[in-house]
Amino acid sequence: MQPFELLRETMPPFHHEEFVRPDIATMEPYVPIVPFEVLSARLGRRPEDIVKLDANENPYGPSPKVLSALADAKYLHIYPDPQSSALRRALADYTGVPQERLLAGAGADELIDLVLRAVLRPGDGVLNCPPSFGMYPFSTAVNMGELIQVWRRADFALDVDGICSAVFANPRARILFICSPNNPDGGVISDEALRQLLEMRVLVILDEAYVEFGGESRITWTPQYENLVVLRTFSKWAGLAGLRVGYGAFPLWLMPHLWKIKQPYNVSVAASLAAIAALHDAAWSRRHIGAIVAERERLQKALAKFEFLEPLPSRANFVLCRIIGADAARLKSDLEQQGILVRYFDKPGLQNAIRISAGRPQDTDRLLSVLKAWKGS
Ligand code: PMP
Repeated sequence: MQPFELLRETMPPFHHEEFVRPDIATMEPYVPIVPFEVLSARLGRRPEDIVKLDANENPYGPSPKVLSALADAKYLHIYPDPQSSALRRALADYTGVPQERLLAGAGADELIDLVLRAVLRPGDGVLNCPPSFGMYPFSTAVNMGELIQVWRRADFALDVDGICSAVFANPRARILFICSPNNPDGGVISDEALRQLLEMRVLVILDEAYVEFGGESRITWTPQYENLVVLRTFSKWAGLAGLRVGYGAFPLWLMPHLWKIKQPYNVSVAASLAAIAALHDAAWSRRHIGAIVAERERLQKALAKFEFLEPLPSRANFVLCRIIGADAARLKSDLEQQGILVRYFDKPGLQNAIRISAGRPQDTDRLLSVLKAWKGS
């Protein structure tokens, strides 16, 4: 072996540019919402004075049973159970799906990435039906997948025939993401369309993040289909977005591989305790889900009365609005100045639109009073 002094002479210099994967170096970052504390400082308002309708969170927060489970937590100094057994037992009761098909994660976001990591070889196809949730293209890019876009129709309905043709035209298509209710419009897929898509040789990932607010869950279909994954979350209905806990029902053939590659301690002790307590307080959750759904309906009707707004019907906890004859970006920023946060979109298929989460009655009241005074043109 040569002494290090000699090797050093011939060693090429360190160029950091060679170390980042070229596709990651040129990738567009995912643009998350601005953190709450940052925005409240920027707007000069206390967080409790902000009407936060931009991220489909639950304004009621978690149930009191969740808060006392967290306050009473004894083992925060011990690593969590890598199998989240207690949570998965509670989820099996809640969903009716056997525990051996269920896996918990740090939000549904983690599970989106996990499935792609297990399945995709570089260059494999992932079908996405935009406008839809931005994490599908993002995680596809991180996992070196090839995005195949099948656009929804102008009314946001899925182009089922287009999806089927795209699968036939792309022998390397492996994954199909379907979001129902869909973020950002809140529309749902019919049983018939889903059954047709499940006949194809792709793994269908049905994202039901919002299903507690409307539509039927298909999680109990998972034992009948070898190619169906259903993802759910505690972020929306249970008010636990900040704790990061979601879960999925998967085909049995996929489970051993997901167990192998998941981070061992992906669901924290706090997240697990909170999720179990939320499942045990079904009555509280049902009441608040009911309140949010009622507010969504009220919001939808009230928005339809403004001539510059065209709200779409939704089964989720938000309403998408096209803005007619006025500038959505300006509306978003004028609302923000008044301490009201909504999500603004300006991308293909979603031009000049805002999405408003359903909040508490007082949140809708504040929004409507600002809208009434708004001079948009
Ligand atoms: N799926 C959809 C459709 C979503 O809108 C969201 C949250 N924005 C998620 C998944 C992510 O959920 P989680 O907080 O469990 O990661």
